Amino acid sequence: MSMKTRRNISILLCICIGWCLLVGINGRTLSTQGPVAAPSILLDPGHGGEDGGTAASDGTLEKNINLAIALDLRDLLQICGFPVSMTRDVDISIHDAGNTTARQKKVSDMQNRLKLYEQAHTVIAIHQNHYGVSKYKGAQVFYSANHEAGQTLATSIQQSISQRLQTDNTRQIKKATDGIFLLHHTKRPAVLVECGFLSNPEELALLKMPVYQQQIAFCVMAGYFEYMVQE
Ligand SMILES: [Zn+2]
Repeated sequence: MSMKTRRNISILLCICIGWCLLVGINGRTLSTQGPVAAPSILLDPGHGGEDGGTAASDGTLEKNINLAIALDLRDLLQICGFPVSMTRDVDISIHDAGNTTARQKKVSDMQNRLKLYEQAHTVIAIHQNHYGVSKYKGAQVFYSANHEAGQTLATSIQQSISQRLQTDNTRQIKKATDGIFLLHHTKRPAVLVECGFLSNPEELALLKMPVYQQQIAFCVMAGYFEYMVQE
């Protein structure tokens, strides 16, 4: 086990203990009525199947990195007792049968994801960025303006990544426009984490590493916890 992994596990334990203490003090899980169920989180690894998302110059597809990070995040949240569901946990599009063109499949996939969003307590979507100029790097979190908690969650996750992993990241959270279909339409607290740029060679190399994917997942989870104790 590497020093980084040990350090992350130590931080995780501290956050878990802190979380239990805080929610206990607030009486949110320790009530005389018995435990209250933790809120359900929907994780949405962007794209999938024929829709690879953006692609790096070496052919790395966004959809695969999205899924790897989301699966790590699912595991971490489940260890801490949160009910987690996913829009996909394998490399598929979730369009309805009968849609044949790429466009029809994409529209159906988006509609089905939106239905899942509306059933969740909170939504965290995982994506990767791409830009024509390779110097740009760093995670950025977008939020849905349709529920006020989205901005709070986005702030918490952005800070967690910037403070714990990308210490030179000065990016600010951004309100989603209608260009981000799911965040624009959902009524649930929802954020989209652009974890990094596949167009930046150094960041691409990191994003392809399982240990870095775990670190991103850890930062998102820690940001979620910090958001939960504020709420
Ligand atoms: Zn994407």
